[in-house]
Amino acid sequence: MSWGKQDIKLKSAEQVDKMQASCEVLASVFLEARGLVRPGLTTAELDQAIEKLILDAGCIPSFKGYHGFPAAACISVNEEVVHGIPGPRQLRDGDIVGVDIGLIKDGWHADSAETMAVGTLSAEAERLLTVTRECLELGIESIAVGRHISAIGTAIETHARQAGFSVVESLVGHGIGRDLHEDPQVPNYRCFTMPDPIMEEGLVIAIEPMINAGTKRVVTARDDWTVVTADRSLSAHFEHTVAVTADGPRILTRRGAGVAAF
Ligand code: MG
Ligand code: MG
Repeated sequence: MSWGKQDIKLKSAEQVDKMQASCEVLASVFLEARGLVRPGLTTAELDQAIEKLILDAGCIPSFKGYHGFPAAACISVNEEVVHGIPGPRQLRDGDIVGVDIGLIKDGWHADSAETMAVGTLSAEAERLLTVTRECLELGIESIAVGRHISAIGTAIETHARQAGFSVVESLVGHGIGRDLHEDPQVPNYRCFTMPDPIMEEGLVIAIEPMINAGTKRVVTARDDWTVVTADRSLSAHFEHTVAVTADGPRILTRRGAGVAAF
């Protein structure tokens, strides 16, 4: 098997600062979006609000038009894993809604996602959100110069399995910078079939575990975009854009300085 040549574009400290500026706008969009999510809101209304926030900040919504995707945000409800197309579906009390947003500021991409609660959740849905957030945090904590990328997926998979959940394998995280998707791929599980480069200072990656309450298997819906769990169990998704520094991980899409990553 040939893995092909890796084309990892390491960023200078100055470039990481520029990505931080882009990612800070995205973090603020998320904080606003959280305040909008409520029963009765349609996913199209949520998307329109998100697009306006991005444009008002002078940035470009990077998902719109990407391979023909029609919206600024991917909005995925309950058994939908990722890539949900916003539309007339109304959010209902007890839903979980995954919101994935990308934007470009001054040529630099930012990419982040979080799964939000609509009203009051079941205990199982609440636990899925908590564990998926923890998976992302543990993946980030495993970042260090000189370690293999696979340390991230190993940490994520170990935690998800301990909780009795499964990790989606067919979609993975990625390098990010001038392009939304750069090398390397960043699997969320212990993977033996992808390149496993060593993390170096200046590597910037989007880590994005997708954790299912049931089977890890997913299918694509008839709209050719929405990825759904094969057994229709709940799925959650959290994502941060993170820079590798000599001092460890720097979470560029952190929601506010000095507080928890989310
Ligand atoms: Mg994303
Ligand atoms: Mg991503």
